[in-house]
Order: sequence, then structure tokens, then C-alpha cells
Amino acid sequence: MVGGKTAKALEKSFGIVSVGDLLNHYPRRYTERGELTSFQQIEVGQPVTIMATVAAVTSRRMHSKRGSVLVVTVTDGIDFMELTFFNQKWREKELVVGSSGLFAGTVSGYRGKLNLTHPQYQLFSAESGSDSDAIRTFAGSIIPVYPSSQAITSWQVGAAVDIVLASLEELPDPIPKSTRLAHNLIDRTNAIRQIHQPTTRDAITQSQYRIKFQEAFILQALLEQRRIERRGMVAVSRCTDQHDLRNSFDQALPFQLTPGQVLVGQEIDRDITSDIPMMRLLQGDVGSGKTLVALRAMLDVVESGGQAALLVPTEVLAAQHWESLINLLGDLHTTSQVHVTLLTGSMPAPARRVALLDIASGVSQIVVGTHALFQEKVDFFDLGLVVVDEQHRFGVEQRAALVAKGREGIRPHMLVMTATPIPRTTALTTFGDLDISTLTESPAMRAEVQTFTVNPRSHPQHESRVWERMLEEVNRGNRVFIVCPSISSPDTIPGASRMPEREHEGTPSHVASVEQTLNELESRFPDIQFAGLHGQMSIEEKRDVMNRFRSESDSPIQVLVATTVIEVGVDVPRATMIVIMNAERFGISQLHQLRGRIGRGDRPGLCILMQGPSASETSQERLEAVRSTRDGFKLAQLDLEIRGEGDVLGSNQSGVASSLRLLKVIEDADLIESVREEVMKLSVTDSWPSIITSIDSSELLRATQLEKT
Ligand code: ADP
Ligand code: MG
Repeated sequence: MVGGKTAKALEKSFGIVSVGDLLNHYPRRYTERGELTSFQQIEVGQPVTIMATVAAVTSRRMHSKRGSVLVVTVTDGIDFMELTFFNQKWREKELVVGSSGLFAGTVSGYRGKLNLTHPQYQLFSAESGSDSDAIRTFAGSIIPVYPSSQAITSWQVGAAVDIVLASLEELPDPIPKSTRLAHNLIDRTNAIRQIHQPTTRDAITQSQYRIKFQEAFILQALLEQRRIERRGMVAVSRCTDQHDLRNSFDQALPFQLTPGQVLVGQEIDRDITSDIPMMRLLQGDVGSGKTLVALRAMLDVVESGGQAALLVPTEVLAAQHWESLINLLGDLHTTSQVHVTLLTGSMPAPARRVALLDIASGVSQIVVGTHALFQEKVDFFDLGLVVVDEQHRFGVEQRAALVAKGREGIRPHMLVMTATPIPRTTALTTFGDLDISTLTESPAMRAEVQTFTVNPRSHPQHESRVWERMLEEVNRGNRVFIVCPSISSPDTIPGASRMPEREHEGTPSHVASVEQTLNELESRFPDIQFAGLHGQMSIEEKRDVMNRFRSESDSPIQVLVATTVIEVGVDVPRATMIVIMNAERFGISQLHQLRGRIGRGDRPGLCILMQGPSASETSQERLEAVRSTRDGFKLAQLDLEIRGEGDVLGSNQSGVASSLRLLKVIEDADLIESVREEVMKLSVTDSWPSIITSIDSSELLRATQLEKT
């Protein structure tokens, strides 16, 4: 039984409500009897638990008020710290010079002197000595130090753990014995005991390793389980012997496929000709030609009699993809061999009705659309393949809704494409249930792109130079993008919700807006043709602006001032320069995507990251990362390092993420990888069902409420 006060404090401080929660609340570190905590490491203002020895005790009356002060000087053997107790003179009886113990509280610093006022403490020699309701007797010589709080000390946590451990029975072990033997792992019950009540240093290492292994094991087993479930689902094999459509498409292409495109094409081929639903992630940097790979797969599905859907995050992109698919298809489209339909939320009703009818009757063979595609009214004749572009914009549920559009009981094949390459650790954890293909070359990113950060506040002359460069580009017949975080100022910032961290970097009035930037630049450069582009414009307006920006027209647009609507996929080979205003407000992958809008033709490009007035240190690290490399894989890794652990698993994995205590997904990538291999091996054996059952039952412990007195 755990005391009521302790139980309350455990819940309030750490969210610990069950026996499992408590047993999974592992010591932060260990200290040994006689091993004093160095005061050098102590951070003022933080709750600490220190081991120290009493060096001196003085007691005096206070001058101003009535009462006494007891000052106990403790030492780590080198430095000294004062413990202050008001009107508790009686404590000098237990805090005698030479006694040692743990002291806990929040350290304050005054004139370079460390001080703890009214610390809680637990002496080693004393019978009593703490006013806590849970007194721990330190049996072993190694003393665990738990994460503690104002409300509960490390040894109160320890005492509660002791109570639970005393009545702990054998725990079910999710890791099979053969694996434990092969990897030298101690069993689970032992690991739990040893991590809380270690007898030796070795025992700590062993139990920590075992627990990390287990965390990785459960994570990988659950991902593998999902994969197995998927294999049990039925898709239609989209088998074509001839590949007539694809071949005539390939022949009409003005360029050769890259070896990577050919290889990935074969991987997809194998998947869609099987009756197990494909679940493949295609990662490739901006300009690596993913769309082309997807289109070739779509043609096979179409030839076999099915339909393919391309899901994109924005209306601008849907319209652009629709047009570029039609362009790429060339004769296949003009001779009506392949019928491509656009479906977006803002289409006028009559056009929409026609599109819906075509989709339902099977006239449409390829459908390009936004999230409007998963609405109930959309009824596919025979949806065989779903391609999701830029998957980070879509939730798991949205993908699931589209998958449910297959014929009764049949799953369409699914290809998810991302231009933000996924670092190895993320691939091993979050995307462990997908098969992964990678395009490494970027045929469309031939041209050099130089990137600079500009701080207008410290170097106003650099800013003027940026606008001169814009004029030069325009005079050479090139196109320029200017990206602003907001539409009009002050208003809400569209990019803000996707920012990797919540920082307060300037008020909205410091944030460049499309309207304001457009006004200023138009009056400064009356000869340049500017236009704005943002999400609040109608789809016709947006399309018109994009067309005039992209192509040679009677009234061309030379400089496009836009929000992040241009972030993904927009393909303008003549664009050579991009200026990103308030670049500190964007995440690394967003900046990389934006920069991917230039250098797509053969003209070299220039990317300017314009810094706002109060860019924080992490945002500067991000900008520096983006400046330093154009390699999407390197950037993804840097991004992960700057953002850290918590971000790897993502919010939709939070259930799993919150069960990781010791495993560090970045640091422990090697361990995760070897556990993954182990899990793959196990999943082809008969013991797999019992492994999954024991993982489920080991979660039961988590459900057992702490019994309170
Ligand atoms: P992604 O979607 O991966 O950013 P896209 O599929 O949009 O890239 O391709 C970008 C540009 O590169 C397009 O204009 C496309 O036609 C072109 N492209 C695709 N594959 C090749 C290739 N093998 N060689 C040359 N250009 C290519
Ligand atoms: Mg693309």
C-alpha cells in the first residue's frame, strides 16, 4: 500500500497512477553511500537531491523577529553549502557534524553561496530524520536517485517503489527466452528489481540495457504486427503484361528515366501486381522526379482496368498537378486513351457534378484532388491505387479515409510520397510498417543554388542589394519568388501552426505580409510586374496568376509575392531567385521545400533567407543548417538533432512514444536496428502470436491502479 499523500504527490508530479507507471519511473542516476554529490554540478533554481556530509552547525536568535535560525553547513568534500531552518532548533539533535544523508530542495544562490532553505532530508545513520510518511531504509550501498519534485522527494518515490516491489510477482516477459539468451538479456522481473534496487553497478547496466531492448522490442513488434495485418488484407492485383500505356508514355518522354526511377518503378510493379495491398513510402528530394514514378504506376493500374487517385495538399497544387499530368501524358491524353479528372472543394457545382459522375462511372481513370477526394459523396468505380503527395500534410486518418474508397472489402494499393527524406531513426520507428523506396538523384535540380542569410537590421545595405538582385534577375527574363509568412498584417500567420516549436519571435506587426510587401515593392520598382498569391484567392485567380508567372504570356508576372502556398511541387523552370521573409518563422523542411522552387531548370539560383528582428538561437541554427547544405537527407538529420527526441515519433504515435523511458531513438539507432532484425526473424515463426499476447498482457500492469491506504 502506498500512502495517500504519496500517491497524490506521485500523480500530481509525474502522472503516476498505476503500479506499472511507478515501476516504469526509473531512477535518473545512482549514488553510492559515501559518494558525495559534487556541488559544482548544481544548478541554482532547480530541485535537486544531493548526498552530503554535515560539516558545521550553528544556531542563533534572529535580530528583528522573534525566533531562531539553524544554519547547517554541509559539504561534498570540497565545497560547502548552507541549509537554513527557521524555528527548528530541534533539528540540531539529528543533524550532527559528521552525519551524511540525502538532502532535497530547490537551491538558491546568494552572493556565490549555495543555499537550501528547509530541505527535506534522509540521514543514513538516523532512525528517523524525515517528516515524510514513507521512510526508506537504504539496504544496499547503491542509492537510486529518482526524478523528484517539490511535492515528493527522491526517497519518497523510492519508498513507494519498495512497497510495490515487495509484493511483486513474476512479470510476463514480452521477450521470448531464445531472444533473451541470444542477446544476453536478464528477465523482466529481475530487470525491474535491479533497476530500482541494484546490488552492483553491473546490475544497473544490465537492467538498463534489458529495459531499452524491451522498449525497442515492443515498438518494433507492434509495427511488425501492423505489417502482418496488412498482408492479411486483400487488394486487387493490377497486372498488365503489355504495359502498353506505360511504354508509349516512356517513349514520348523528352528525357531518360534515372536509374533510381527505373528501380523504384520495378519495386512498385512487384507490389501492385500482388494481391497484398501495397503500402510504400517513396522518399526523394525535391526535383527527384517522384511524380513521374507515380504516374507510370498509375498507367499500369489504368491499363488493368482500375482507377488511380493522386491526393495533394492544396488546390493550387491540385490544379498544377492536373495540368502537368496532362502535359506529361501528351498524346495519351489528347487521343483520350487516358482520362484525367480534377476534383477540388472550390469547383463550381456543375463542373463538380460532372467530375463526380465520371469518377463513379469509371470514365475518369486518373483523379487529381485535394482532401475533397475523401468526402462521402465521392464514389469510385474501381479505385486501384492511391498516391499521396507530400504526406506530411495529411493525417493518418485522412489517408485511411481514402483507402476505404476501394470496392467492398478491397484495399487500393497505396504510395505515399515525401520530399522530406526521413532520417534512419524515424524510418525505423514511425514508418516501420511501410516499405520504403528512395530516389537519390535529382534530375530536375541540375542548377547550382547559392543560399545566403540576410539580417536587414544589422546590414541594411545587404537588404537593398537583395532587391537590386531581384531587378537584375527580372531583367534577364527570369522569375522571382518572395515568400511571406502572412497574407495581410497584422493577422494570423498561416505557417505558424507548422512551426517546430512555439517561439515568440516578434509580434505580427514585425512579420512581413504579402499585401504590405507587394505595396512596398510595387512603389519602389514600378517597371516590374508583381502579383500576389495566397490561400484566400479563388482557384481561378490562383491559376491565372500561376499561368502568367510560369509561361511567356502577353501580361507576364515577373515577381510573385506569395505565402507558403508555393511550398510544394510548384514547378517553374524559369524561377531563379527566392527571397524568404521572416525565414526564422519556418521550419527546416519548409525552407528546404521553398528553396526547391528554384534551380529546377538549368539557370543557377539564389536563395535569400531574410531574418526578422528577433530570431532566436534555435531559429538561427535552423537557418544556418539550411544555408550549409542543399542535401535533403543531411537537412532532415540536422532538423532532427535540433528538434530532438520528442519529435521523432510524432503526435499520432504518442501512445507508443510515451512508453519509451530509457530508449533514445536518436542515440540508440543501432540497437533499434538490431532489435528490428530480431523481430522480423521472430515474426515468421510460430511463437509470434504468443509474443503479441504477452505484449498485450504486459501492458496490463499499466492498468493496475496504485492501491492507496
Ligand atoms: P518531385 O515531385 O520529386 O519534386 P517532379 O516529379 O515534380 O519531382 O519532377 C521535377 C521535374 O523534373 C519535372 O519537370 C519532371 O518532368 C522532371 N523530371 C522527372 N524525371 C526526370 C528525368 N529522369 N530527367 C530529367 N527530368 C526529369
Ligand atoms: Mg512533386
